[in-house]
Amino acid sequence: MSALTFESVLKGSAAYKFFLSDLRSGLGHAYAVMTGDDDVADEFFNLIAATVYCQNGSACMTCAECRKVLHSNHPDVFHVNAARDKIKVDDVNKMLSSMYIKSLSGRKLYFIHRADMMNVQAQNKLLKTLEEPPAGVTIFLGVANESAMLDTIKSRVRAIHMDLFDEETVYLAMLSRGYGEEKSAVAAACSEGKLGKADKIAASSQYTALYAFAIDVLQRLGRSSDIVRLDAGVAAQENISEFLDVLSIIIRDMLVVKSSPDMILSKHIPSDIAALAERYSPLALSEIPRIIGDTRRQLSLNVPALSAIDNLLFSILEVRHRCPKS
Ligand SMILES: [Zn+2]
Repeated sequence: MSALTFESVLKGSAAYKFFLSDLRSGLGHAYAVMTGDDDVADEFFNLIAATVYCQNGSACMTCAECRKVLHSNHPDVFHVNAARDKIKVDDVNKMLSSMYIKSLSGRKLYFIHRADMMNVQAQNKLLKTLEEPPAGVTIFLGVANESAMLDTIKSRVRAIHMDLFDEETVYLAMLSRGYGEEKSAVAAACSEGKLGKADKIAASSQYTALYAFAIDVLQRLGRSSDIVRLDAGVAAQENISEFLDVLSIIIRDMLVVKSSPDMILSKHIPSDIAALAERYSPLALSEIPRIIGDTRRQLSLNVPALSAIDNLLFSILEVRHRCPKS
């Protein structure tokens, strides 16, 4: 059992290779690790620290130095905002004052989790130090929302873009976490390439249930009189947005299942996907994502869920009849 949940995937990532090549040629002052996956950012920070301090030079995760990193008690590794809450000027001041205390190893690493939660004053406070930190100090910013960072900050850091992992990689990572094939497939399909998101999906049964529900709705949606039997059930879903996510994946799979069955994301239900695809022309299927987008917009504008879902189901049927199979 490895000490990091996604150790092997992260060690194979382009982001890690980028970091390693910089480490070999001399680590810079400041980096921004760009990822919308907070859990992966946390793990990547630990991997970076283990790589820098490992006694075996390989982020072995078992030597004394690696263990200190993993247990968050390495004397030269500092975490700011590990709880991913918010960062104020006071927090930055506290960090800056500790930076000038001499380190034991000659190198100190600062990890600012979700640095995009820094308010403008805190970012401005950090600016000068990012440009010229004390000798031996490297600062890593975890950034999920790039637009929340000042341009002056962005121009002073080297960006490391965390990979979005392909479905197969995520699927195998979930299997190796001990999840079954169906949960792993659903998680990989809905993860958008984010390991942390996949892990949360696999740990809950919600998405598997949503998948089954969405398939059932599509199977029962034959004519307009079916809509009144289906709409309330969909509108009553606690997570309509996630339902629409799953529906989008299924529609996309219906579109590709004929030409490239290996490419479908819903690997746990290939025959359901193929059977549903028989009912729609490719042209009709290619129109449905736009309809789902309209539904999202309506919901965001507080259109009642029942009318938004009525519109959705009606529009799907309408486009199916307007673009028949030839
Ligand atoms: Zn080690």
